[in-house]
Amino acid sequence: MMLEQEITAPNGVVYIQPTGLFINNQWVKSSNGQTFASINPATEAEIVSVYAATTDDVDVAVQAARTAFEGDAWQSIVGTARGALLWRLAELIDREKNVLATIEAMDNGKPYSSALGDVDEASGVLRYYAGWADKHYGQTMETSRTKVTYTVREPKGVCGQIIPWNYPLAMAGWKIGPAIACGNTVVLKAAEQTPLSVLYLANLVVEAGFPPGVVNIINGYGYEAGAALVQHPEVDKVAFTGSTATGRQIMKMASATLKDLTLETGGKSPLILFADAEIENAVKWAHYGIMGNMGQICTATSRIFVHEEIYDVFLHKFLAYIAKTSIVGDPFDANTFHGPQVSKAQHEKILAYTEAARSEGATILTGGDIPAARPDNKGFFVAPTIIGNVTEEMSVYREEIFGPVGVLVPFREEKEVIRMANNSEYGLAAALCTRDIARAHRVAGKIKTGMVWINFNQPSDYRVPFGGVKQSGIGRELGQAALEAYSHLKSIHINLD
Ligand code: NAD
Repeated sequence: MMLEQEITAPNGVVYIQPTGLFINNQWVKSSNGQTFASINPATEAEIVSVYAATTDDVDVAVQAARTAFEGDAWQSIVGTARGALLWRLAELIDREKNVLATIEAMDNGKPYSSALGDVDEASGVLRYYAGWADKHYGQTMETSRTKVTYTVREPKGVCGQIIPWNYPLAMAGWKIGPAIACGNTVVLKAAEQTPLSVLYLANLVVEAGFPPGVVNIINGYGYEAGAALVQHPEVDKVAFTGSTATGRQIMKMASATLKDLTLETGGKSPLILFADAEIENAVKWAHYGIMGNMGQICTATSRIFVHEEIYDVFLHKFLAYIAKTSIVGDPFDANTFHGPQVSKAQHEKILAYTEAARSEGATILTGGDIPAARPDNKGFFVAPTIIGNVTEEMSVYREEIFGPVGVLVPFREEKEVIRMANNSEYGLAAALCTRDIARAHRVAGKIKTGMVWINFNQPSDYRVPFGGVKQSGIGRELGQAALEAYSHLKSIHINLD
């Protein structure tokens, strides 16, 4: 197999797809030649095969990142110059917007219009951290007349970054931006379901002028390449986004070398609609919160609590809104809101959840199956699904489904809904709608999550910290907080006596 292949995407875009491992600014094959296929989830057809890193390949990538990190070229580079590299990469991403969004829509299944937003997110976050690269520094402390004491911010070193399939490009941007701004080098592993856009990004890394070994991008299976990255003694920090189950394994594996960790894992986030909520707004954000990106958002508000006074009117409007807005179809059709799930495995898992809910006595209010409108009768589509009549014990209420499946739960008292919202092993995000500003602040303070949206839902912002509490993760990405995650403080004491 070659290291690149010409692809004609379903929308007619023709481009050259890299298929190798990007190490030291060069494309290489995997050491034993192993590959896996990337599937278009809308058609179930293979797009192309890519090389999958072995443990040996991970070692080569980590050594490249280590050599680059210790080398003069990178050690002597100042923050302003690192910022310029990130800025240039952002410009190249913008230049390639159409191709990158095409790849993302084809490989992940998300509508092309959303994929364009993901490309903007990737370049935006890189520009944001380009600005920080020379504005993150230590302090001088007054101690005694005979001492000068100060701190400096130092990079952590080689960062192993493991990203999921729901927002491949945006996640790559979230991870590469702060790591490079702080002066680290990285080995980034894409998810095996969606390897293509980040490989295309790798070519832009060279064009932007990054020295060899500073940004390495590989594909591979989690249990093999991912695990090798986490366990490698030359990796100083691991940043992971994905499932809580994998996060647990990563913590265990990283303990052998006591690695610094940032984990962004799962969620079962609540949306609370109080009786005084502006109803059209509540409907719109309830919909976006669980149907956006086909429910494949870690902060998806999959538990929707509705005050009993507005329950009936909300339900009526919500179902009508879903029917009108969640148009299922080809990701490249401009009318499509709702593409396929990312993979066959996810498709089957989601349908099994709705089946379990049905058999446990819940009421499927809409969806619950494969949509009739599936293009060509193919693709991993799941109909937008809302389930009522659930109990707090049911799996659809408790577990992260990562699909377009929300449960609707009536409530009467504020105290009661706070208890129910917090009754979860997760604590990633929450949203609430009310016109009562005192209630908004009070409830936001009592919800045990890392993030709360009031009178809207979901949009994260790269200028604002992102992350969860409880089993939703450790540490924060984005905003100034990510700079803390990718650097450590060194204290210097000087004796003047
Ligand atoms: P996953 O956690 O298995 O995979 C995420 C990333 O981790 C991938 O790059 C994968 O290759 C890697 N990985 C897997 N096992 C690993 C290991 N042992 N060591 C190191 N890296 C490893 O997630 P998934 O199987 O793709 O999806 C399953 C569930 O994860 C979803 O249903 C959803 O609940 C959750 N998920 C959450 C997010 C999020 O943003 N929080 C994103 C994707 C998936």
